Amino acid sequence: MNNNNTNSIGITTKDICADVINKSLDNKNDTDYVGEDGHCYCGVCKKAKTMTSPFGDGEEVGIPCDCIKSENAAKEEARKRNKHRIMVERLRREGLSDAAYGNNTFENDETPNCQASQIARYYVDEWVNQKERGQGIIFYGNCGTGKTFYATCIANALLEQGIRVYVTNIPRLMSYTPDQMRNVDSMLNACDLVVIDDLGVENPNAYNFSRVNDVVDRRYTSGLPIIVTTNLDISELELTTPTNDRERKLNRIYDRILEMCPMRVAAVGESRRREKAIRARAEEAAKFREWQKKQNI
Ligand SMILES: [Zn+2]
Repeated sequence: MNNNNTNSIGITTKDICADVINKSLDNKNDTDYVGEDGHCYCGVCKKAKTMTSPFGDGEEVGIPCDCIKSENAAKEEARKRNKHRIMVERLRREGLSDAAYGNNTFENDETPNCQASQIARYYVDEWVNQKERGQGIIFYGNCGTGKTFYATCIANALLEQGIRVYVTNIPRLMSYTPDQMRNVDSMLNACDLVVIDDLGVENPNAYNFSRVNDVVDRRYTSGLPIIVTTNLDISELELTTPTNDRERKLNRIYDRILEMCPMRVAAVGESRRREKAIRARAEEAAKFREWQKKQNI
């Protein structure tokens, strides 16, 4: 079509083109052109940007070309991502009783080949089935061997997927007033996963027993999983023949935990904190030697 053609009432095809393009969803581009059918076409993807209205009034209406479709899809994707991010931030605020737990992620895992790490990642991959069966994990072992790290890696990976997780520890649970405890109770009842850090450090008084017992009972009744970290050994948790009242009470609590947590992972090996300190010390020693050289000492 020649853009300089003029019809009987003096309107050039250029005018028509301008008009058609004006109607193309405010998506004008210098390379857009008018096709032989009189519709506006995208200069980039060559798809129509206008069509005749399907309502029979002959009006030219805008339609999205492929460029606009993909631009819209990208915008929608960004909107969804943003919405998800806001939700995850809220879940993290509500679910991590200590913000420091948020730093424990598989990306920061320095020993991804150890068994505890692999089981933690397996648990995340198998989450739907684990939740269905109400199954959790006990991470046990000495201080600083990564129990809390892996338990909270699981928590953070699931929070990232928008799953409700509550992470707390026994000393913190003990510090709550009955009023504060009411909020915690609703988290314990409703969260898809609860992580209890540091079981076994509680002072064995009647009040503490009943609180730990209550926490475990809530999860047991809801049929939802719990992940526990403890310095206790499995043999201490199994306590098969309690000999006094204290042991009987503990036995009941531990029995339920063992029932809910078929996976028991020994976090063994050197203390991660100690290893880190040794590495830092070696690095500093090397830096110090460099410094001495520079000083000609
Ligand atoms: Zn296009």
